[in-house]
Amino acid sequence: MADRLADQVAIVTGGNSGIGEGTARLFAKEGAKVALLARREEEGYAVEQSIRDGGGEALFVRCDVSDREQVDAAVQRVMDEYGRIDVLFNNAGGGDRGNFPNEEDDGWNRVISVNLTGTFYMCRAVWPHMIAGGGGKIVNMSSVAAVRGFSKKMYDLVGRYPSASYYAAKAGVDAFTRYAASMGGQHNIRVNCVRPGQIITPLTDVGGGHHSLEAMFDFIQILDGAGYPEDVANLVLFLVSEESRFITGEIVNVDGGMPGKL
Ligand code: NAP
Repeated sequence: MADRLADQVAIVTGGNSGIGEGTARLFAKEGAKVALLARREEEGYAVEQSIRDGGGEALFVRCDVSDREQVDAAVQRVMDEYGRIDVLFNNAGGGDRGNFPNEEDDGWNRVISVNLTGTFYMCRAVWPHMIAGGGGKIVNMSSVAAVRGFSKKMYDLVGRYPSASYYAAKAGVDAFTRYAASMGGQHNIRVNCVRPGQIITPLTDVGGGHHSLEAMFDFIQILDGAGYPEDVANLVLFLVSEESRFITGEIVNVDGGMPGKL
């Protein structure tokens, strides 16, 4: 299948790396004009160029999604360049190293600002443009962290605890998704969310294609091995395409079967 996003304009935050990059490339292949919003310029312009070299259309805009002014300016830049916004993938995010109760205020605030407040800022900024364009599709980025805990055995296997801020931020993204979907229905704006498990990206790759949490796979997943950015990108594409026209307010796992594992 091709051209599932023909003539559409899509924003992907964190589009210069990992899952965001994989999704931006897939969107472009399906005919979308793709705006990549992130902070690291070299990586951003490299992805932009590579999509253009492959015959697609892309635009990198430097933007820290936790900064309201930068978000508003970046969305305006996309409007100036492409004239409309049909799709938003709120993918930018990540966790902290802090082990509760030793997580510091700075880390807590940063993780909440990027993952949760950034998602809110981006939705707020695109919302009037989507309404003006007759509707839109938004996908937010959660994590299995929103609905799972962890055990001492996990700590023994991987040598660290995850940060409290990440768990709280991603659970907030889940709740915000349902709220935004409720507000969006009357405007033909659908809002869904993806909840990846263990995906190999620069965030989790510890070298040689090995995932930082690989030692746990056997007892947390039904399927073998890690996921890849393309596994998430395919789901996001479905959620922003016409094939999912009757789906909103949903949070879909892409995690090798974690909830089913006893
Ligand atoms: P990644 O390759 O490190 O990507 C993170 C992206 O977020 C980068 O493009 C980064 O770009 C961007 N970003 C971070 N802070 C930002 C900010 N303040 N403003 C704008 N962009 C920012 O890791 P990834 O695994 O693909 O992560 C993507 C998303 O998936 C994250 O939300 C993560 O929590 C989620 N996730 C990942 C996994 C997994 O196993 N990999 C599992 C569940 C959920 P810059 O640094 O250039 O800004």
